[in-house]
Amino acid sequence: MEEEATIKNQTVEAQLEHLLATIQKNNPEADTDLVRLAFDFAERAHRGQTRKSGEPYIVHPLAAAQRLADMNMEQNILIAALLHDVPEDSEIMSVEEALREIDKHFGHDVASMVEGITKLGKLKYRGVERYIENLRKMFVAFAEDARVILIKFADRIHNLETLDSLPPKKQYRIALESLEIFAPIANRLGIHEMKGLLEDYAFKYVYPKEYKRIKNMVQEKVSVREEYYTVLAQKTRQSLTEAGVEPVLIEWRGKHLYSLYRKMLRKDNDIDKIYDLVAMRIVVREMPDCYAVLGILHKLWRPLKGRVKDYIAQPKPNGYQSLHTTVFCDNGQIVEFQIRTEAMHEEAEYGIAAHWHYDEHGSRIPDKHLRWIKELAKVQQEIMRRVKDIEYMKIDYFKNRIFVFTPKGDVMDLPEEATPVDFAYAIHTHVGNTCVGATVNDKMSSLDTPLRNGDVVDIMTDKNRKGPSADWLKFVKTTHARSQIRSHTKNTIKDWLTSVINR
Ligand code: MN
Repeated sequence: MEEEATIKNQTVEAQLEHLLATIQKNNPEADTDLVRLAFDFAERAHRGQTRKSGEPYIVHPLAAAQRLADMNMEQNILIAALLHDVPEDSEIMSVEEALREIDKHFGHDVASMVEGITKLGKLKYRGVERYIENLRKMFVAFAEDARVILIKFADRIHNLETLDSLPPKKQYRIALESLEIFAPIANRLGIHEMKGLLEDYAFKYVYPKEYKRIKNMVQEKVSVREEYYTVLAQKTRQSLTEAGVEPVLIEWRGKHLYSLYRKMLRKDNDIDKIYDLVAMRIVVREMPDCYAVLGILHKLWRPLKGRVKDYIAQPKPNGYQSLHTTVFCDNGQIVEFQIRTEAMHEEAEYGIAAHWHYDEHGSRIPDKHLRWIKELAKVQQEIMRRVKDIEYMKIDYFKNRIFVFTPKGDVMDLPEEATPVDFAYAIHTHVGNTCVGATVNDKMSSLDTPLRNGDVVDIMTDKNRKGPSADWLKFVKTTHARSQIRSHTKNTIKDWLTSVINR
């Protein structure tokens, strides 16, 4: 037992050292003492707590901080990541106490980020109402400080990495939420690195069969050729150097599994029609070098017709810039090359997150174009659209439908367990707003009676009625009824309270 604890502590110590080394590497002048202090603070706060996997809790904030350090994020973000679960989860102090302590030791900037994450709370997918509320919270936090969202992503990625130790129902819920909400936001913000991870980890739990199929396919197509690509990268570097271009970076990367899956759906499931299964990336210093590299590659290997794309002259709508070409390499292998400058590379990998990078001198890159403010507006639009979709899908479409009739024989298509109030609103908003009672199959019934397929419902209205009752929100099932009731009862919370008290 004691031995086991020692091993665990050694792992934690090694993780901490790795984090500090990463920070030092990114920024040799970094003052890592404060990071160490933040670790100690978090470690003490979480002492005795374990993850579902049995590991000490501190491995989780450490992993989140490491993810952000690997993205070269500024130090305050890393410190906030280490502390992100302290207010919510520590048993030795209250939320307020924790935030006050953090403010005192690590400054207001860190404390306000941790507070932002705490406000987001633990996003739990408890029914649609709660879910949408969570989304709204997320966007308020985001508007206040976009760094909070980066920490939230790092937090979520580690939770997805360790999802195996949770019960299957929970796995699915968390994975689905990551795929439907987190990944699209990361995509919008251009944080492709995180978007790819969120999707790939979630993919495994949301579509397990498809995941296995794609994974096996890639293993056959790519993994067996690892050596080929490594040699190709070397040869490319040598050819470029001989031609007088010194590349900053040449690397090859397999396409993310989930985006491959999506692409396969568009390409008749034929993996041989997908040429960017592996992309060879060449990063150079100056923009003219990009075009020079393109020429050198085309001299070496014959390009595929129609596959040369100049996203430098004509960037993609999300701002992505690179030159792409697909060529027949040695042994007839078809390989896609992506050529870009360092700045384009940063933008392509990190998007909005690049604004909180340290450059090689350890100072912050200026907010050149403040593009992220524009992005924020776009994200909000996108999310509101998604929220509407989800509200719509989850409530109205994912549930089984029933058909209910008016006394005249008109049919209303409603979700299962819809009530006479839903029915009234389905007929007309005015009927809903003024309804006072109902008969179901000629029997007087309360307004919250669950309706069944084939019921005949007659709604009684009173034109003197001022409007709907907020109480109805507790039982209505359709989005339409809910939003109508909401908009009519916004200012009558007092009425609602009175009705609750008098019940
Ligand atoms: Mn966490």
